[in-house]
Formats: sequence, C-alpha cells, structure tokens
Amino acid sequence: MEHVIIIGTGCAGYTSAIYTARANLSPLMLSGVQPGGQLTTTTEVENFPGFPEGIMGPELMMRMQQQAEKFGARIAWANVDSLEKKEDGTFLIRAGGETHESRTVIIATGAAPRHLGLPGEQKLIGRGLTSCATCDGAFYRDVPVCVIGGGDSACEEAMFLTRFASKVYLIHRRDTLRASRIMAERTLANPKIEPVWDATVSEYITDGAGEMSAVRVKNLKTGVERVLELKCVFVAIGHVPNSAFADGLVDRDENGYILQLPGRTATKTPGLFAAGDVADHVYRQAITAAGQGCAAALEAERYLAEHE
Ligand code: NAP
Repeated sequence: MEHVIIIGTGCAGYTSAIYTARANLSPLMLSGVQPGGQLTTTTEVENFPGFPEGIMGPELMMRMQQQAEKFGARIAWANVDSLEKKEDGTFLIRAGGETHESRTVIIATGAAPRHLGLPGEQKLIGRGLTSCATCDGAFYRDVPVCVIGGGDSACEEAMFLTRFASKVYLIHRRDTLRASRIMAERTLANPKIEPVWDATVSEYITDGAGEMSAVRVKNLKTGVERVLELKCVFVAIGHVPNSAFADGLVDRDENGYILQLPGRTATKTPGLFAAGDVADHVYRQAITAAGQGCAAALEAERYLAEHE
C-alpha cells in the first residue's frame, strides 16, 4: 500500500513528487502517455521564474524529474487504465497490466491537444497532421505548412516552424489573435508567416499516398473557399483535459476539467486530489501547474496525517 500515487509527470506531477518525497512519503509516479507532459513539446520557456535566460521545455522537465528522484520519488512508465475507490477508503489503480494500491492519489494528468473533428483526421496524424511543431517541424523543410489557432501555442508553433518551412499560414477563425501581445506582435512581424483571418479549415486534402497535400479553407465572413497547398497542418486549438479514467470519483465542468473544492486541490472524493491543467482551465501555465502540484502534495500529506 503506497502513501501517495501521483498520476502524471508534468510540472504539477513532479512538483507534487518533490514535496511528498521530501515529506518521506516515497511517492510512486505513473508517467502517462507523454512523460514530462506538455513542456516536452515546447521550445524555449521564458516565463518560468528562476531562468532569466530562458530554458528549453524538455530540459526543465528533465531537471524536475531529477529533483523528484533525488528525494526518492519512483516512476513507473505506465498509463492509467482505471482508478477505483475501495470500501476501506483506499484507491486501486490499474496501469499497463499492473495493479497499485494507495491511500491517496494526486491526479496531474494535464490535457491533450484538441483536434478539429474533420473526416479522416485521426488517420492523418503522423501523415501531415500533428500538434507538435518541436517534434515534427524539422521534417518539413522548404515546403509550405500551416498552423491552425490564434493563441500563444499557435504563435509559438508558427514562429518555430519558420526555421524550416518555406511559408507558414496561420489560419485563425477571427481577425485578432488571442495570444499575449508580445507573442502576437512577434508572430505578425515575421515575414514568413501569412495570417489567414476569419477562416476555418473545412477539409484536409491528401495525395495518392494518403499524405497531407492541401487544405480547403473557408472564409467565415464571406463563405468563399480556397485551397492552400501545403505539406503539414499543425493544430494548435487548445487542449482536452485527461480525466476520463476518474469517472465517478470526480465532478467535471462542461469541458471535462476536474472540479476542485473551492480554494483547494481536493476533489469531491476524500483522499483524491487534482492539480495542474487537468483541473485548471483559467491559467494553464507551467508555474501555476507547479503551484497546484505543491498544494496537492501538502493537502495529501495533511490527509494522511489526519487518517493515521
Ligand atoms: P488557447 O489560448 O485556448 O487558444 C486556442 C486557440 O484556438 C484560440 O485562438 C481559439 O480561437 C482557437 N480555437 C479553439 N477551438 C477552435 C476550433 N474548433 N476551430 C478553430 N479554432 C479554434 O490555447 P493555447 O494557445 O494552447 O494556450 C493555452 C494556454 O497556455 C494559454 O493560457 C496560453 O497563454 C498558454 N501558453 C503560453 C505560452 C508561453 O507563454 N510561452 C505558450 C503556449 C501556451 P478563439 O481565439 O477564437 O477562441
């Protein structure tokens, strides 16, 4: 029986692990499908306090992992299939063929990239459709690509892609970017980026080999459609929280984000806590996720002390 199992290895998970490990609770972490979380798919992080020169996302996560392991956190490289509460109030987790038991659980599973829901979309993932410019950008040298979205992620991806692509269309459904001002200004000043305003992608067009070759874009104000030839679509339209395995044990909002008790990281189930992007639809920053990870660790520690 573990004291605490932390599901997820992003900023929230590793921070929970550092705190619970330093409290001698020897946390077990279950990594999830994307070890290191969303920051492993980003480039330079300029706004995480303590790194005035900036730090690459994957390096920041590696350092968090080292810090957690240094204090005794253990990591199992598995994805959680189910989470149940037993009659005695403890938890049973099935993950990658193994079963784990714990007195408390911290859910820090983050959120996964959202897709448009167009026909053939799932089949195109890896064949010219992706949500990760840092992972796939370098495959598209000297060819046109597009980014869909108008937030910070879309701008960041578009800027990164200008290192490789001949041209980057930035397709956004409105005529102003949602991104922070500094990011929006940098993006629009880049001569390789061509914004396509008030537009939505209505069709992915493939070549004979089933690879992306173009998109049909519809102007939402005029209804006029046009075809943009390109080799890859980078979708950056936000995320869906990874909370499905916690069915029945947590309440969620209409977008699937886990509801915490007011001002807490505790959920409606005693001993079960949620931290980071899986529960936060407002801030969604690395530092706020880390902060919630800390809070969840402290709450789990108190819960264990009270239920000794
Ligand atoms: P976001 O801010 O929620 O932006 C999502 C974008 O996708 C919006 O422009 C939205 O359009 C568009 N969109 C949503 N659903 C769509 C659909 N079905 N079809 C077409 N477009 C759609 O998400 P994000 O950019 O991933 O950022 C998430 C959070 O992380 C934010 O708080 C952001 O500031 C932060 N972030 C920070 C950095 C950084 O500081 N370096 C980098 C990346 C992300 P509308 O604008 O019309 O709603």
